[in-house]
Amino acid sequence: MSTPFVLVVGAGPSGLLLALLLGKKGIPVQLLEAADSLDDRPRATHYSPPAVYELRRAGILEHMEAEGSFIPNGACWRKLSGELITGVRAPGSTEPTATPMICLSLNKLTLVLQRQIRQLPHVEILYSHKVTGLGQDSDKAWVSVMTPDGVKTLHAQYIVGCDGANSQIRRSLFGDWEFPGFTWDQQIVATNIYYPFERHGFDWDSNFIIHPEHWYMAARISKDGLWRVTYGEVGGLTVDELKARQPEKFKAFLPGNPDPEDYKIVNFSPYKVHQRLAHRMRVGKFLLAADAAHLCNPFGGLGLTGGIVDVGGLHDCLSGIFFGQADESILDIYDEVRRAKYSDIVNPVSSNNIRLLFQQDPEKALEHSAFLKMCQQAETDRKVAAKLKEGMDALQYDFRQHYSR
Ligand SMILES: Cc1cc2nc3c(=O)[nH]c(=O)nc-3n(C[C@H](O)[C@H](O)[C@H](O)COP(=O)(O)OP(=O)(O)OC[C@H]3O[C@@H](n4cnc5c(N)ncnc54)[C@H](O)[C@@H]3O)c2cc1C
Repeated sequence: MSTPFVLVVGAGPSGLLLALLLGKKGIPVQLLEAADSLDDRPRATHYSPPAVYELRRAGILEHMEAEGSFIPNGACWRKLSGELITGVRAPGSTEPTATPMICLSLNKLTLVLQRQIRQLPHVEILYSHKVTGLGQDSDKAWVSVMTPDGVKTLHAQYIVGCDGANSQIRRSLFGDWEFPGFTWDQQIVATNIYYPFERHGFDWDSNFIIHPEHWYMAARISKDGLWRVTYGEVGGLTVDELKARQPEKFKAFLPGNPDPEDYKIVNFSPYKVHQRLAHRMRVGKFLLAADAAHLCNPFGGLGLTGGIVDVGGLHDCLSGIFFGQADESILDIYDEVRRAKYSDIVNPVSSNNIRLLFQQDPEKALEHSAFLKMCQQAETDRKVAAKLKEGMDALQYDFRQHYSR
């Protein structure tokens, strides 16, 4: 390929989606990935309505459905005993015209994206291409890349870092340790397990269990009975220590207090929770999106959903420039708007609210949590339900309003 208009670094979900959205408009894109294939670890699973809007624009909802995606029926909060505190029905699970929340394992979503990209003549994916450095002048940007054929320099009009939490693009722009924010003291462990939750009365697809010690989330993530159980753990434990503690933890908190022979674990991934936001999401001809730009706990719907919304907006900005409908200043608006949407995540007080929501005294949860009270009211009050939905939709922003023609 001759010099592409956009070079995307990182073939995770955000980089693949950006390449697909741009490529479908006929814009030349090169996508560089350090690994020799897609990352097939099951990570994110749920895509909130603002993300689904972008996945629909990419034309992949039916392909996701073919891979087994489904619309969860909603989320509820329970005591450790399983007793229901309150719940909200997911948008789209009851009204067929609403944009739904969708569930599909990330490793299946990235396969769908890769398959669609391969049909596009203007998009090239280069695996085993690891970016190590960068530069730019007023006309173009470039990256140094380690490839199986040696070190190369690749150029483009714009370069987007979609290269995840340890983004080389972000580190080259701001410095290795410059990612403002903080990391939770506690860690979480994400597991995928087969266990008959329904037999224990878990008839909601997503369940958040409130408890000072045994707080966790149990969500159905496939049509064949696979569940994601993500639970809180003390910080500072090694993977081996976490694995050794897991049977006792499950016995203490899963409904039915099962022994290991009662369930089958197919994935076990401890992970640290970071709340961080890059200094800028645009520096000249370099842009950042998704985890490269911001990290958040996965419980409030701001994780990958926010990354997908970044990419949808950035695609509008870059295609506006490509087709002469916008000038480069639209990229400054991208930087300002997207960082403003995330400014709260680096605030320890708002992050603490998420922790407190899980770890409070379940007997007093409804009384103490304005959010849970709102969820309870939303069951019967349509105005409150609309307000809850507005909170999530606030992530979106239509950059096309800044097109000059
Ligand atoms: C166990 C686990 C569970 C999670 N659960 C949830 C959840 O329930 N909900 C949620 O919203 N989020 C969740 N997340 C987070 C979610 O998976 C991430 O937000 C998402 O993967 C970010 O996508 P991304 O494309 O920005 O980055 P990534 O998925 O990290 O992809 C970045 C890509 O860039 C490549 N790369 C890195 N450096 C270079 C380089 N120098 N040169 C070239 N390529 C490079 C990497 O190899 C990778 O393929 C979870 C994460 C984990 C680990």
